[in-house]
Amino acid sequence: MGSTTTETSTEKAEPVPDSSVSLPNSSSKNKEEDAQADTCSCSTRAQNLSFVLEGVNKVRFEDRPIPEIKNPHDVLVQVKYTGICGSDVHYWSHGSIGPYALTSPMVLGHESSGTIIKIGPSVRTLEPGDSVAMEPGVPCRHCIRCKEGKYNLCFDMAFAATPPYDGTLAKYYVLPEDFCYKLPLGMSMEEGALIEPLAVAVHVTKQASLRHGDSVVVFGAGPVGLLCCAVARQFGASKIIAVDIQKPRLEFARQFAATATYESQRVSAQENAANLIRENDLGVGADVAIDASGAEPSVQAGIHVLRTGGTYVQGGMGKDDITFPIMAACTKELTLKGSFRYSSGDYKLAVQLVSEGKVDAKRLISRKVRFEEAEQAFVDVKAGRGIKVLIGGSGD
Ligand SMILES: [Zn+2]
Ligand SMILES: [Zn+2]
Repeated sequence: MGSTTTETSTEKAEPVPDSSVSLPNSSSKNKEEDAQADTCSCSTRAQNLSFVLEGVNKVRFEDRPIPEIKNPHDVLVQVKYTGICGSDVHYWSHGSIGPYALTSPMVLGHESSGTIIKIGPSVRTLEPGDSVAMEPGVPCRHCIRCKEGKYNLCFDMAFAATPPYDGTLAKYYVLPEDFCYKLPLGMSMEEGALIEPLAVAVHVTKQASLRHGDSVVVFGAGPVGLLCCAVARQFGASKIIAVDIQKPRLEFARQFAATATYESQRVSAQENAANLIRENDLGVGADVAIDASGAEPSVQAGIHVLRTGGTYVQGGMGKDDITFPIMAACTKELTLKGSFRYSSGDYKLAVQLVSEGKVDAKRLISRKVRFEEAEQAFVDVKAGRGIKVLIGGSGD
């Protein structure tokens, strides 16, 4: 049995009777002043205001007990910023992702930064007041995958905002000290919250085993796709082509990290791949294709765009099953890899890339909202407004 703190907080996640705080609808702008007055008093009254998903499209604010430090290696973090991710929005609008289904109310959010408030007696590397990026998945540390260093594949992972584990959209959250990464001097809390999607991109790009001078095609210019472009650049890729169906996203990708872009057309995957190769002078095809979209036509084009012996990495999550060009994958002798979350060294490298100025992650932030406006952030992300929306800390 894992003695992880996320489990601890789940055990303690039972709502306190009559503690639910009803906040005014964040979308009623004409009552903004009233709303502000109300939310402020609620926030100060609440000890650990949390943003809870109750069912499909049903969220509410709830006051929950402050999680306790039970393991001596744990720390209590006051959450400062949380980015909203496609997976949070998916749980909100569908109630499940693949095998993970919501069966009881769950706090959302997993891309967070915060301030250390309290430390357990065995904590050596952190002190109250430290700013940290929070790695939100705690593995068992005992299983065979954990022992071989691939803890993202742990059989008993407790991952924030993946049922049944509560997420980080609360005022307080408990984590083991080694899952909190101290932000170097000069790095903001906003940047700290972007370390999670950047760590995802680091993991995807590591899976691609890029070599200096390789050409890379990245499908999907959302936050993770954009960050994959930036990481690929740091890993020495010569050509980085971002692919999407939305022009504004491609324009952003070009300014951010891609060396070229391709707007996917409503033609066959083979045709899109052939056009992409021709327009970008990729010769016999790209060395590496990364899918950060999960869209079936992108996956197909990703296989067709590769040279013989190329590498394909699936990072995006879309439909469970698709039509897949398996003959091309076979005859081109491609290396096919999946990528799931992040593992040993990924968070550390993500923090380093930002602190050394190599990935300007904060440029992805299109909007910041207050904690009390959390639902609006979900509406915006679902509608595709902006790239990354951050939610402020409760009571800030
Ligand atoms: Zn995420
Ligand atoms: Zn494990």
